[in-house]
Amino acid sequence: MSYTIHGIAVSNGIAIGRAHLFSHTSIEVTHYSINEDQIEQEIERFKDAIHEARSELETLQSNIPENAPTEFSAFLQLHLMILNDGTLSNEPIGLIKHQQCNAEWALRLQMDQLIEQFQLIEDPYLRERQADVVQVVERILKVLLGKKSAAMPTWDQGEEIILVAHDLGPADMLVFKNQAFQAFITDMGGATSHTAILARGLSIPSVVALHHAWHIIKEGELLIIDGTCGVVIVNPDETVLTEYRVKQEQWNEQKKKLKKLRLTPAKSLDNQDILLLANIESPQDMDTVKKSGALGVGLYRTEFLFMNRTSAPGEEEQFKAYRKVVESIKGQPVIIRTLDIGADKPIESLSTGHTLNPALGLRAVRYCLSEPHLFKIQLRAILRASQFGDVHCLIPMISSNHEIKQTMAIINQAKKELSEEGIAFNPHLPIGAMIEVPAAALALPLILDQLDFISIGTNDLIQYTLAIDRSDDSVAHLYNPVHPAILTLIANTINYAHRNNKPVAVCGEMAGDPQLTRLLLGMGLREFSMHPAHIPEVKQIILNTDIENIRKLTKKILKTYDFQRINELINQLNHG
Ligand code: PEP
Ligand code: MG
Repeated sequence: MSYTIHGIAVSNGIAIGRAHLFSHTSIEVTHYSINEDQIEQEIERFKDAIHEARSELETLQSNIPENAPTEFSAFLQLHLMILNDGTLSNEPIGLIKHQQCNAEWALRLQMDQLIEQFQLIEDPYLRERQADVVQVVERILKVLLGKKSAAMPTWDQGEEIILVAHDLGPADMLVFKNQAFQAFITDMGGATSHTAILARGLSIPSVVALHHAWHIIKEGELLIIDGTCGVVIVNPDETVLTEYRVKQEQWNEQKKKLKKLRLTPAKSLDNQDILLLANIESPQDMDTVKKSGALGVGLYRTEFLFMNRTSAPGEEEQFKAYRKVVESIKGQPVIIRTLDIGADKPIESLSTGHTLNPALGLRAVRYCLSEPHLFKIQLRAILRASQFGDVHCLIPMISSNHEIKQTMAIINQAKKELSEEGIAFNPHLPIGAMIEVPAAALALPLILDQLDFISIGTNDLIQYTLAIDRSDDSVAHLYNPVHPAILTLIANTINYAHRNNKPVAVCGEMAGDPQLTRLLLGMGLREFSMHPAHIPEVKQIILNTDIENIRKLTKKILKTYDFQRINELINQLNHG
């Protein structure tokens, strides 16, 4: 049966391929159909898994070490009871038969039902026993996953694969950077969640906030992903497939054409030079940066160097990574942002503490100032890299001059140490701040004179101004980059910086959105930093824009408060 699911488009393009369901915990299991003649075999597989899990628990029970805590035996006893109860060991058999689904899925469905019942229990002790049910299910699943099902779908070599996940963290995405996926879709996430940002960096179509896609799409099903419109078509018929193959072809042609602009200077029709820089996550991104025609790196998100590892990188490792980036585009600016962890970028080796609102908690510079030793290691590494090129240092989440002063004190300390150790660095390393907390945008005069440059982080500026979690799919529809409050903050920040002769850039996702290029140019922006994939399209718009001509309409947009009218005027701006 063919059907369509709508989500939020985060990375343009069309992909056609087979679904591969990704799970990062054993409780997220794949779902696929089995044929009638495979039912018996699947039931046997399930029974074998129960048997094996039971033997494991019994072996554990007969080998309890003498010094083990007394609860250990009771805990094993409880798990054996749960396993032996027919609710978990028999009911899934019925589900396999009637729903003709794989054993893992049947077990998962049964677990969900049990948990629902547990949640109704008033006694908190008994209610908490649901965690034991989950642990027993995990044990059975582990065995099941080791016994491959004959019914598991396979597809032809060469067929494109589309990753389908309930949720993906930035760290997961980093792993996928090296794998051949055509597209990815998730149930969770917003358009500027870090996962979405990484998808744009990979330049593969993707759609997020699909809510239940992971549960309804089955392993191996044919999918069309329209990353431009945020649409996923499951099991498309031949007519739809043909239509999308044509669209895909056109999209690829368009991309090829845009690539030819690589060496063309980004100059508007009225001869104004615009600086287009790239956002990167690691030195490996530099090949793409060079191919994109970017004239430097406007945002190096260094926190990705800290992910998927058990300990933080030391000074030497950081220095080598930064130097590699700087040397690979010698002579062009590289803006290295200090560690921005916390919120939707947790890092296993560095704890930012458990908190109810991580986006409002110990994040970015706040975390670094609470760990001055760690901060100084990074600042020393950046300073050391600064002797190899045009390095700038950018501090995230600044909200007061107090934070700048504290940061400067640590930078000065790092400089002093390096001088004493006879290690070279640029003593005039420019220091800038991200303007991404409304307080910083509103009180710019409070901080600007202490800074060499600023960069507007629209992703967080929108999140904090509109009070909308950028990675929460349930409020993603309210995340509005052209809300009058946002446009006013951006326009005022650009204006104030220019009046004070301070360089100002936008490095949030708005900078790479071709729908907003003219609006930002009209506001006076001359420096954009974005994922390299967006540079050609944004450049093409710049080449076709007379900035003086669009000023009047931009001013009108800045005075408009009605959302619909703002969108109409932006449309007019883009097509005028
Ligand atoms: C931003 O907030 O706009 C930004 C560029 O930083 P990040 O997306 O890494 O939070
Ligand atoms: Mg930010």
